[in-house]
Parts: sequence; C-alpha cells; structure tokens
Amino acid sequence: MSKITIAIDGYSSCGKSTVAKALAARLNYAYVDSGSMYRCVTLYCLDKGIIKDHSFLTDEVIKILPELKLSFQFNAKSGINETFMNGKSVEKEIRTLEVAGHVSAISTIKEVRAHMVAIQREIGKNKGVVMDGRDIGTTVFPDAELKIFMTAEMDVRVQRRLDELLSKGEHVSFEKVKQNLMERDHVDTHRKESPLVQAIDAIVLDNTELDKEQQLQFVIQLINDLSLSQVTRGEGQGASEK
Ligand code: C5P
Repeated sequence: MSKITIAIDGYSSCGKSTVAKALAARLNYAYVDSGSMYRCVTLYCLDKGIIKDHSFLTDEVIKILPELKLSFQFNAKSGINETFMNGKSVEKEIRTLEVAGHVSAISTIKEVRAHMVAIQREIGKNKGVVMDGRDIGTTVFPDAELKIFMTAEMDVRVQRRLDELLSKGEHVSFEKVKQNLMERDHVDTHRKESPLVQAIDAIVLDNTELDKEQQLQFVIQLINDLSLSQVTRGEGQGASEK
C-alpha cells in the first residue's frame, strides 16, 4: 500500500499522541504532535513577557511568529519525539500546567493558526505521516486517507493527564487538571478559526475502556480495510479498462 496521511483529532488528553506515536512506529511513518507547536508559541510568549497577568496583545503574538524555528527530533534513548524551539529541546517546558493554561487562548489567533498549518502541511506534503491535534482532518489535511476522532470519558482523561504531570514532578490536584481540560475543550470547540469538530469522514475511537494495544489494533484494522478497498478499487478500474 502506498503511504497515506493519518489525521488524529480529539479532545484534550484523550491519548491521541500515544496512539499516534505507536502507529507511526509500527508503520515507519513520521509522527507530528501539532499541539506541541501551539505550546511552543505559548511558551515563547510567556518567556518574553508577552503573556502577562493572563492576558496578551494579539499583535505582539503575531509579531514573534517569524522568530520561532520549530523542529522535531526522535530521541532514541527516551523514545520520545522531542520538540525543539530555536535549537533547544523544550519538551519538558511546554508540558507544564502553566503553558496548558494559556495555549488555547493563543491558539484562537487566526495568524498563529495559519503559520502553524503552513508548517504542518510542509512536513506532511509527501504523506507517510501521522499527525495529531484538533484540526488535522478538517483543516490541515482535509484529504487525509484516514481520519480518527478520539474521545474518552472526562474523569478518565483527567486521571491520565494527572498521572503524566505527577510523573514529571508537577504536583497538581485532580480538580485543577479537570478545570484545565474543561476550559481547553470549551475554547477549542467554540473558537471561530478551525474549531475542534469531528470531520464528517472521521471514525470515532472512544478509548475510555481500551488499553494502548487495543487502540492500536483498532486503527491497524482500519488501515487494513483501507488497503483492501484500494486493491479492490484498483482491480475494478483495471477490469473496466480491458
Ligand atoms: O494536543 P495538546 O493538548 O498538546 O494541544 C494543546 C492545545 O493546542 C490544545 O488545547 C489546543 O488549544 C491547541 N491546538 C490547536 N490545534 C491543534 C493542536 C493543538 O488549536 N491542531
């Protein structure tokens, strides 16, 4: 089967990146975590004092976009596809609750989105990519061959994110994480530019009660079905040309 584009969208902390990473490794595809790019813009704005007292001037955010050089590098030791901003790994810094508390507001800015979408399309132009985010199947790659929309029960998502933060040494409460996820989901689904919606041709994956391997198998089955339908279509065309 020729290389395809796989778009995985969904709510915050649904385990999108876990599935996307495992899938990319299985298929030998590139993995792109588009959320990390919006987190980088947010981190940079916090560092530069552009976000102050929970507010910012949109023009100031837009002005810094050309200063950001974003890239991804696979770290074989940690098994993580690390995010680099201006040559420095920021993998740890972009995952804090502070960044999470501002990223959805920054992501509403039209120019920020246009900038990120251009980079994402460039990375995925040759296919063979698994990208996760909020608008991948609707805006970034509307022609993606496979679109998954992930969801899970709120408290399960909160517990997963809490475990992740605690494992990284950030001591936060269940309630605080829940509040952040609810706020982000609200902003992400209600913004004017590319809101989070299920693409019409996306397949829903509710992983509330599924482990990592079961989720991977679910998606692999979809890919197998897709390749089977491609083969069948190909034979059909050949037959009609005879
Ligand atoms: O995926 P992650 O939770 O790291 O994304 C952080 C935030 O970045 C999301 O809550 C959303 O506001 C924004 N985002 C977005 N579009 C994407 C990916 C992420 O607006 N494609």
